[in-house]
Amino acid sequence: MALAVEMRDLTVTYNGHVALEDVNLEIEEGKFVGILGPNGAGKSTLLKAILGLVKPTKGKVLVFGQLPERVIGKGGLVGYLPQRPLTNPTFPVTALDVVLMGRYGKVGLLRRPTPQDRELAMKALERVGITHLATRNIGELSGGEQQRVFIARAICVEPRLLMLDEPTVSLDACAQDELYELIAQLKEEMELTVLMVCHDVGAISRHVDDVVCINRRVHLHQPPPLGRIGLEQTFGCSVEYLFHGEVPHRVVRSHDG
Ligand code: ADP
Repeated sequence: MALAVEMRDLTVTYNGHVALEDVNLEIEEGKFVGILGPNGAGKSTLLKAILGLVKPTKGKVLVFGQLPERVIGKGGLVGYLPQRPLTNPTFPVTALDVVLMGRYGKVGLLRRPTPQDRELAMKALERVGITHLATRNIGELSGGEQQRVFIARAICVEPRLLMLDEPTVSLDACAQDELYELIAQLKEEMELTVLMVCHDVGAISRHVDDVVCINRRVHLHQPPPLGRIGLEQTFGCSVEYLFHGEVPHRVVRSHDG
């Protein structure tokens, strides 16, 4: 099976602070992989290393067998939904404009969007089920609708790898489930490899093929469900399970006394 992402002894440091250490990871093409770990574990850094936004201090990252800067420079292979995609929520820009911004990487900053860019942006809005919101101001939309716009922006480059950094963090349980369903559906329709950072062990267990638990290092890489010991190793504390059948639903710190 071909690899979408390959990391070999990857270490990333920020001013001497080690965010990732000796990470070895292989993500097969076509998999839906969840990345789990506590705050500050290096999850966002892992995605940024794939995007070439942070450079390895040691080791290497390959994306579809190539160095990230070569892949990303070309545009199109990787779609990315960052953790805080909306820097200014009151900025007067429509949902369609936001999606078109995803095309700029592909068309070049100085080029105006072509009719084909618009067509692909509308197609992306259609895939996420919100063509009726195309001309609405992004700031007026609900959290779930906004995330759909940002997913449309990420897929409008027609990527082979889609990376999402905590896409459901501010959504209620119902909107979260809908979004996971949408991501799984897009994966099938577009034949994507999906890499999703997520806090919710239960959601991860229900939707992904493999889970990678990281806390500076990779502690586990396996299909769900996850066992208590692996989770405790990753989170560095006792975990309390709320079971849905045999699937752990949530991880919280154990209560003292
Ligand atoms: P996570 O996404 O798992 O919460 P991050 O990858 O954001 O973790 O961060 C990993 C560690 O690196 C944290 O200790 C964080 O404070 C640090 N870090 C992240 N980005 C920077 C940065 N630009 N400069 C300095 N330190 C950073």
